[in-house]
Amino acid sequence: MLKIGCHLSSSKGYEAMGKTALSIGANTFQFFTRNPRGGKAKEINPLDVNKYLQLADNNHINRILAHAPYTLNAASADENLREFAGNTMADDLLRMEYTPGNYYNFHPGSHVGQGVEVGIQYIADMLNSILTPKQNTTVLLETMAGKGSEIGRSFEELREIMDRVTLKEKIGICLDTCHVWDGGYDIVNDLDGVLQKFDSIIGLSNLKTIHLNDSMNPLGAHKDRHAKIGEGMIGLEAITRIINHPELKHLPFYLETPNELDGYEREIEMLKARYIG
Ligand code: FE
Ligand code: FE
Ligand code: ZN
Repeated sequence: MLKIGCHLSSSKGYEAMGKTALSIGANTFQFFTRNPRGGKAKEINPLDVNKYLQLADNNHINRILAHAPYTLNAASADENLREFAGNTMADDLLRMEYTPGNYYNFHPGSHVGQGVEVGIQYIADMLNSILTPKQNTTVLLETMAGKGSEIGRSFEELREIMDRVTLKEKIGICLDTCHVWDGGYDIVNDLDGVLQKFDSIIGLSNLKTIHLNDSMNPLGAHKDRHAKIGEGMIGLEAITRIINHPELKHLPFYLETPNELDGYEREIEMLKARYIG
């Protein structure tokens, strides 16, 4: 069965997200752990979590994906900003323990001037300071489009971060189809070649989740503008090959397309119909 969902608002809690997911035909979902621009997280309500866990269990909702605020920059030249990123993520990971066995995704960061090498070391340092052997959440580095000085635009950069992390079993990769396309990986004409490259550099066993987005821009544009499925430059045929690829079809897919719930519902229905499994 296709494991698919979309990004949902977390403002009403876990049970509400579970119900919303079911109402649009999803069996997983993504959410922000707190306001995407940062700020304080809402208290965890254990009653809400328990209701959610029951609902999820009954309806096979699993492998949900929490997304860190995208303003965090673990690669910042400013020590205070790096510390803030680490503290926020450590707090998010504590909260994730209420719903064990899921994923937490973050944007590696932007080096803004001091260079990729330094930035990569900062990101690895942060991960080494917050990951614990006991945690039940896998932390994922997202593949980036390479806008500005974003780190994670190439498989090699992600590999370098992973190499420097001690608790390797606690980390993995979230591949964003819009981002890798914008980053210059031709998943339309050479999906097999891109996946072979991913495997040789990072290892496909480290690929845990897919952000399924079309892109408004051409290959290698380094822009990061998501389009609705089938309405961008990746296109429905290539996206159909992605969800059915033998190396990918078992992974959870999360839509981050410019849609309201009804649009997500239509995309989920369309992708389910194109899933051979
Ligand atoms: Fe993201
Ligand atoms: Fe994404
Ligand atoms: Zn994006």
